[in-house]
Amino acid sequence: MFSSQVIQQLQQHETPFYYYDLNLLQQTLNACHKAAQTYQYHVHYALKANFNLKVLEAVQATGFGADCVSGNEVKAAVAHGFDSGKIVFAGVGKSDKEINAALDVNIFCFNVESVQELLVINDLAAAKNKIARIAIRINPNVDAHTHHHITTGLEENKFGINTWQLDDVLFTLKDCSSLEFIGIHFHVGSQITDLDVFKQLCLRVNELQNWFEQKGLTIKVLNVGGGLGVDYYKPDTNTICDFNDYFKVYHDHLQVKTGQEVHFELGRALVAQCASLIARVLYVKNGQAKNFLVLDAGMTELIRPMLYQAHHEIENLSKQDVTAATVKYDVVGPICESTDCFRTDVPLPESHRGDLMALRTAGAYGEVMASGYNLRDRVESVYSQDAYAGNITLV
Ligand SMILES: *Cc1c(COP(=O)(O)O)cnc(C)c1O
Repeated sequence: MFSSQVIQQLQQHETPFYYYDLNLLQQTLNACHKAAQTYQYHVHYALKANFNLKVLEAVQATGFGADCVSGNEVKAAVAHGFDSGKIVFAGVGKSDKEINAALDVNIFCFNVESVQELLVINDLAAAKNKIARIAIRINPNVDAHTHHHITTGLEENKFGINTWQLDDVLFTLKDCSSLEFIGIHFHVGSQITDLDVFKQLCLRVNELQNWFEQKGLTIKVLNVGGGLGVDYYKPDTNTICDFNDYFKVYHDHLQVKTGQEVHFELGRALVAQCASLIARVLYVKNGQAKNFLVLDAGMTELIRPMLYQAHHEIENLSKQDVTAATVKYDVVGPICESTDCFRTDVPLPESHRGDLMALRTAGAYGEVMASGYNLRDRVESVYSQDAYAGNITLV
């Protein structure tokens, strides 16, 4: 929900741009931080969800660690004040250069995704006379019940080490004197709204950690990843995730032994609701079967609908009269691709050239996936100046 004050502010900027409600971001971070502290859980923010400067500043100031998936993310985290002792580094294809960059700043842990990667990190660490802390990313074969393009924890996915390879892992670790094994890591997918998925994950983690301990290894860190979903359909009612409910699933089902730490890697749940993509209607095309609203933003600014059929609420901010006649539009972008369509048959007040449109819940995997295809301008960001005017129920 945008106040008329905010809409006035937005009107002054050239479109398209991302609008960030920094107040809402801070409230979301605070809610998560508070809930995590109840259980003394460690939270690392997944930078890939959004590495906008202001977002990173707020996340870092709240005290979270960083979850990185590239060498440049590791560098960005350090540059923005994240404690390198709170940085974890995952990724199925870490290059030697990226591993070296992470070794140079002494990150907390590499989440290792193959047996071969263990050997490479061991060699690179040895060459620097360092000991690299590692956790094994295990593929727990838990179905995240989310879109198949954002499922990561099944045996058919490229991520993690499958359980039948764990003997090989232990065998390899014995020879890796420059590695310190500290624990196990999981991440089963993204936009998970069914909390039972996390319960199933806990049950698998319990089995697997017992297996490791039976083999004589001590597990200090249980890293259960992220994936908590947000409500893309009701951004104004379910604005801040129920982090208490989320962490409580782990509290109730995860067996945490004395001296163990539980780590999380949240991305989307922390940043999705704090930003909208703001665009203007360039053209209205009325057809016989279809009406099109052609916006000045497209898949180059927000690719989620085209990449994984993601839903974003779309609002016409210039037409606040709720009694206006409703028309169904296909809301499309200007890019020369047929897939450049945000949504079809969207009921909206009758819209006109120049109207200001908001695509909501665009804070996660939005701006960071922008591209220069069609030689488009880099998408700008605009930040809230005023306090958040909507209704937020803090959990
Ligand atoms: C992307 C990613 C996350 C964050 O996922 P969200 O769904 O945004 O919470 C966490 N861990 C790893 C390893 C990831 O790749």
